[in-house]
Amino acid sequence: MRKLVVDWIACDGHALCALAAPELIDLDDWGYPIVHAIPDDNASLLLARAAVEACPVMALRIEKSK
Ligand code: SF4
Repeated sequence: MRKLVVDWIACDGHALCALAAPELIDLDDWGYPIVHAIPDDNASLLLARAAVEACPVMALRIEKSK
């Protein structure tokens, strides 16, 4: 299982990640991401990668869950 991880120092709340992958990322009241675990299927992994690429400040990454 993998997960999205937010670098809270870099994140500016642009919300583009949630637009790219609404199935994996919600937004809080201030526009900051609430990330969910990435289901173990290729479509979800592609979606997570799209979210990572959508972030203009490279504040998102994919890590393996422990
Ligand atoms: S696109 Fe990047 S900067 Fe914007 S909310 Fe998502 S992680 Fe944060």
